[in-house]
Amino acid sequence: MKGDMYLAWSKKEDLREKAGSGGALTEILKYLLESKKVDVVVTVKPITLYHGMPAVITEPKDLIDSAGVFYCVSENLPRLVKEYLNGAFDMKMAFVGRSCDIRAVIEIAKRNKINLENIILLGLSCTGTLSPAVAKEMAEKEFGVNPEEVAGHHIDEGKLTLILNDGKEITKDLKELEEKGFGRRDNCRRCEVPIPRMADLAFGRWGGEKKKATFIEVCSERGGEILNSAIQAGYLETEKPTSEEIKERAQKEQSAIELAHYWQERDFGEYKKMNLEERFEYWKSQFNQCIKCCGCRDACPICYCDECVLEPGRGVIKPGAVPPGWTFSIIRAFHVSDSCLNCGQCQEVCPSNIPLSRLIFMVNREIKEVFGYEPGVELEEKPPLARFEEKEKLIEEIELNFSALKG
Ligand code: SF4
Ligand code: SF4
Repeated sequence: MKGDMYLAWSKKEDLREKAGSGGALTEILKYLLESKKVDVVVTVKPITLYHGMPAVITEPKDLIDSAGVFYCVSENLPRLVKEYLNGAFDMKMAFVGRSCDIRAVIEIAKRNKINLENIILLGLSCTGTLSPAVAKEMAEKEFGVNPEEVAGHHIDEGKLTLILNDGKEITKDLKELEEKGFGRRDNCRRCEVPIPRMADLAFGRWGGEKKKATFIEVCSERGGEILNSAIQAGYLETEKPTSEEIKERAQKEQSAIELAHYWQERDFGEYKKMNLEERFEYWKSQFNQCIKCCGCRDACPICYCDECVLEPGRGVIKPGAVPPGWTFSIIRAFHVSDSCLNCGQCQEVCPSNIPLSRLIFMVNREIKEVFGYEPGVELEEKPPLARFEEKEKLIEEIELNFSALKG
């Protein structure tokens, strides 16, 4: 039942070895395909340590290719499901993703572009990903190793450990690395949801490291049924974690959340200490670097309109103008800010390196303070910009000041 926790292992030694922490997720995916509970598994397949690609798997034998730790991969799986797999309206799917992926799927489902009834959500605990270029440079400059010697990494309690091909481990303080511009992606640093409890099952290594087990938390009744069926069908070995193991996991989660809050304050504080005019000038100078490639819009899981108001001919943005004017970026930011998941996909694709997710997630946190809305958690909860409540008429203390926008 919901809240139950397990340590779990594949019964196959080669899979346990490749998966890094027990191989239980791969076995559950295998069970789901072999028992025909799903038609496809959507996950990521590593190409090298630093690169991966989305994988849509229909054959159980191919699942082994996706087992393991992904050092740098941040694929846009929710968008793939929406755009290329017809939102799972005509297939049963197991979807494997991190918190930001799972939350994006839920948020898209609220906009009726994904059919969540057909999707089993399997969440991976995550403390952040690194961009490939930064990871390679960091390996050389900070850890003194050839990037090709790195076999994996983990982040625990504010420390980043590189695991080398020969099994040797090197650990450094994560905050110090990130102060120097190394470490995780900008948005990952700010992520306060390391364990994806909005999924049906949450998988991770915290609490299971000493026994090389997968730590599984049951997050929904459906997740519990799937796990029990896979155990009864003989796909997994399990045991209950000890209170020490549960405590250790909770401590590591808490430490990750505290670090996220540090980075939120640090990143947003830079902007908040500017007055309104300075803030506006700063963002205008950023937006003036925009080349109107529309990559941010096309990557964002929350951008869902069939006909975008930013397209030429809609009368809002002047056709042919580059940069398109700051209203282009402001319109996009406003449109998604109530539901921004801090997934970072917009910033990742921006050729002009505009810190888009930093801005939009900052606005999102402020919207959360007003409306209490946390995106991508409850399917039934509607985004604030999509609903109106009578009591909002009574909110007097919030005053919008547009004076800085004049001229
Ligand atoms: Fe992700 Fe950027 Fe869209 Fe926010 S605005 S959900 S960070 S792509
Ligand atoms: Fe402009 Fe960057 Fe968005 Fe492209 S990705 S439209 S350059 S803000």
